Amino acid sequence: MKYNTRNIGIIAHVDAGKTTLTERLLYYTGMIHKIGNVDEGNTTMDKDIQEKNRGITISSAAISTQWKKGHGIFNINIIDTPGHIDFAVEVERSLRVLDSVVAVFCASSGVQPQTENVWFQAEKHGISKICFINKMDRTGADFFAVLNEIRTRLNAVPLALQIPIGAEDRFEGVIDLIIQKALYWTDENGETIAEKEIPGHYQAEAEEYRLKLMESLAEYDETFFEAFMETEAGITEEMILNAIKRTCQSGTLVPVLCGSAFKNKGVQPLLDAVVTYLPAPNQLPAMKAKDAGTGDAVELERNEDGTFSGLVFKVVIDKHMGKLAMLRIYSGSIRPGDTVQNVRTGENFRISRILQMQSDKTLPVEKGKAGDIVALTGIKDAKTGDSLSASGRAVLLESITIPAPVIRVS
Ligand code: GDP
Repeated sequence: MKYNTRNIGIIAHVDAGKTTLTERLLYYTGMIHKIGNVDEGNTTMDKDIQEKNRGITISSAAISTQWKKGHGIFNINIIDTPGHIDFAVEVERSLRVLDSVVAVFCASSGVQPQTENVWFQAEKHGISKICFINKMDRTGADFFAVLNEIRTRLNAVPLALQIPIGAEDRFEGVIDLIIQKALYWTDENGETIAEKEIPGHYQAEAEEYRLKLMESLAEYDETFFEAFMETEAGITEEMILNAIKRTCQSGTLVPVLCGSAFKNKGVQPLLDAVVTYLPAPNQLPAMKAKDAGTGDAVELERNEDGTFSGLVFKVVIDKHMGKLAMLRIYSGSIRPGDTVQNVRTGENFRISRILQMQSDKTLPVEKGKAGDIVALTGIKDAKTGDSLSASGRAVLLESITIPAPVIRVS
């Protein structure tokens, strides 16, 4: 069975460019056809406009989109993650629903408190992370200073996969340290990428950072270390990608990319990194739950053959479809017409429709399976935080605890 799904959240301090980046992710994945502008209030994630256009209040609970890489087509579900610690319960809930995060930093402001808090919460849950240093075109942009802050403020070991070519108003593109090429975005909408030789005056820096990349992988990944010791020249691109994937998913290293969402530079490599390094739902450890009857601990296998179990992480009202329960499925599968149980109320109900939420429409699907994020219609009493189970097999997912915020004494 092949799971080409990635459930991601985007975490950022206010103003780092989360809305702009999300918009661009939807643009390059073909989900929207025109680039919006947050400053004019016409992005997809802009709630008012969204409601006006489609009479729907799904806001940004979760949006599904697709990205092709190599022979694979990946479903990327972007789950809204509130940045502010005032929404601690919601942050916790969203961290439960997503499998990994993209942390967005402003290249001139660096690591800021809101990101810091959510980062450590994500860390506690063992969630894989990728960093995107945005606003490389802004005055004061400094990629290397932010790398250093990731190390000092987030206690993480950053793994630069790229270095920028220029900064501020001279930010031109990035050097991909893996394929050892310079990437330039050659049209206004950033759709065409020209792959060129690394410019002469960047060769020494690119060499230095490629060596750092290899050394970090050798230091933190045993398999890579052995290959590296045997024959440095025999290291293939695939070996590097696999080592990045392992260290990213074990949380020992954090891949870092950069760009400017606003200037449409750097977004496609980020999408590639999301599908290459971040985990598929079935690669995660079994989900811990409790038998609702006996209270015994149970583990839910994250595959579609298991017993159905899911969490309602948001209930939204749609003018046309009524109540929609946004559901993360952890185990098993459901089809329209199936009877499932709301573990909180003990009531059984029949699922009428299963929908995939796209940026401007909902798409009915035949089946929702482990790892998926879908919306259900026909659930009268569902509330945010409810566990849904296969009828007669009630399991409660772990209750949500509110962590104390990280307070820095500086
Ligand atoms: P959010 O609060 O994190 O969602 O940030 P927004 O996406 O709303 O962006 C905040 C401001 O930064 C807006 O004025 C954006 O136009 C601007 N912005 C976003 N990305 C970039 C970027 O890459 N470069 C520059 N210079 N400005 C950006």
